[in-house]
Amino acid sequence: MKNIQFFSDFDGTITKEDTLNKFLNIYAGETWKEAEEKWIRGEIGSKECLKEQMKLLPYMEQDELEGFVSSIEIDETFIDFYDYLKSENIDFFVVSDGFDLFINKILSRYGITDVNIYSNKLELKDGKFIINFPFSNENCRRKSGTCKCKIVEQNRIVTKRVIYAGDGISDFCVSDKVDVLFAKGTLLEYCKNTRNTNLIGFSSFKDIKDYIKNQ
Ligand SMILES: [Mg+2]
Ligand SMILES: [Zn+2]
Repeated sequence: MKNIQFFSDFDGTITKEDTLNKFLNIYAGETWKEAEEKWIRGEIGSKECLKEQMKLLPYMEQDELEGFVSSIEIDETFIDFYDYLKSENIDFFVVSDGFDLFINKILSRYGITDVNIYSNKLELKDGKFIINFPFSNENCRRKSGTCKCKIVEQNRIVTKRVIYAGDGISDFCVSDKVDVLFAKGTLLEYCKNTRNTNLIGFSSFKDIKDYIKNQ
């Protein structure tokens, strides 16, 4: 038995591209990038950023949303990795600063319906988007919609090692609070500068499976 808990970011880590950025690019017009820039510079938290961006969306039919979701692809090695975690009884959590509506729909397209998901909430009701932030934390240093460090802290079992995988700014706050950090993209660059000793670069979930197998 492996004493491991595995937490993963969703967008850009499990999916090949950032779901929300793609969605906003298609439906919100150019102005969504203004809030995004402020968030990247750290002037506003993702909670405020997402609120501003989601206001820009037009009325939308359910069919259109489904069509969009079906265009999102995931890392080809993720399903095998997920099955492997299950076979080893390793706890798996998705922690995302994106929206549950997208995450649930994308994962269920691949037959995955039994995951612990901590993320912001999105509902499409009568053509309008309604958002909620059940996992925000007033003390979060990035004022995130979903504060990942708090979720890891709350779910952590002291006798187990926490392995985390991520790729972006929303993973910064949790990056120094886990036992092993798999990073790519912006997160990898950031962590190289913070002398994080438990840092491992990765490109797909196969790399993480190979690592866990040897534990
Ligand atoms: Mg990400
Ligand atoms: Zn946080």
